[in-house]
Amino acid sequence: MADTLIKIDSLVKRYGELIALDHLALEIKQGEVFGLLGPNGSGKTTTINCLLSLLSYDKGTIKIFGKDMSPTAYDIKRDIGVIMQNVAVYDELTVQENIDYFCGLYITDKTQRGQYVEDAIKFVGLEDFRKFRPKKLSGGLLRRLNIACGIAHKPKLIILDEPTVAVDPQSRNKILEGIEELNRNGATIIYTSHYMEEVEQICTRIAIMDKGKKIAEGTKEELTAMIKNTETIKVTLHELPDAVLSEISALPHVYSTDFTDETLTVSCSGGKHNLIRVLEVLQNHDMHIGRVTTEQPTLNDVFLEITGKALRDKEE
Ligand code: ADP
Ligand code: MG
Repeated sequence: MADTLIKIDSLVKRYGELIALDHLALEIKQGEVFGLLGPNGSGKTTTINCLLSLLSYDKGTIKIFGKDMSPTAYDIKRDIGVIMQNVAVYDELTVQENIDYFCGLYITDKTQRGQYVEDAIKFVGLEDFRKFRPKKLSGGLLRRLNIACGIAHKPKLIILDEPTVAVDPQSRNKILEGIEELNRNGATIIYTSHYMEEVEQICTRIAIMDKGKKIAEGTKEELTAMIKNTETIKVTLHELPDAVLSEISALPHVYSTDFTDETLTVSCSGGKHNLIRVLEVLQNHDMHIGRVTTEQPTLNDVFLEITGKALRDKEE
């Protein structure tokens, strides 16, 4: 059994009337890539800020590396790397100088620091931009600089708060691969996101948050096994008479159907041959079948079943 690195119990944080964290409990073990998944406003950043003692809270306990966390717990902070949601670098310093500055908060030996800064530049792929100032960098490169500043001192625990928001696909992949590499090299990771695809891709364990509460927790497999949806079938059709839709709704294992924008969606729970049965009905009625897909349940389905709403709006 791996060591517990972080233990949060009964954490309550209020902003005036608003309860941003409602008796949140989390336990994160050494070696995990732990995902905090939740829609905007669910309390992810508040959790991180409380965890780091950057924000006071109303109730609860927070232990990191087995010790009580506090604003002055510098011995704990030294082993943590933080990449905040809002990029925080100095505009007047170059890429290399920025990384050197943040690394210098922890590493005083100049030779060692030089090597660490070089490692960090290579790690995020900013070799060609080391003399650039932040204002000259694209959004994706700026995010990578933000990450380099947070990890250059080689911390044991790395916390990344939505590091891929508004980032181009190339930088996004680089960031996700980088996080997996940091984990392989021994770091424990806490990763917050409202993108379920990313969390599914890199996280070994996930807590799903909504309105300041943890509503579910587990591996992706454990979470999707909790819900009744086991398969979602989608078929594009020009038209679908109500009678045919009713027939599909009445099939075994089908628990919900929908036909909008020329797409038939059939949600199934358990059972085999669901797809074949659906297609049989359509064929019996001479429907013109377009594209057919079936999907395994995603973390979005988990969120949808527990909360009754989608993890994020369609237009995002
Ligand atoms: P997330 O990071 O998941 O998007 P946040 O932790 O930023 O969520 O916010 C949780 C809730 O607390 C939201 O309803 C947000 O509006 C509110 N909130 C966050 N920061 C403040 C603040 N400084 N003052 C008042 N309300 C805040
Ligand atoms: Mg946030």
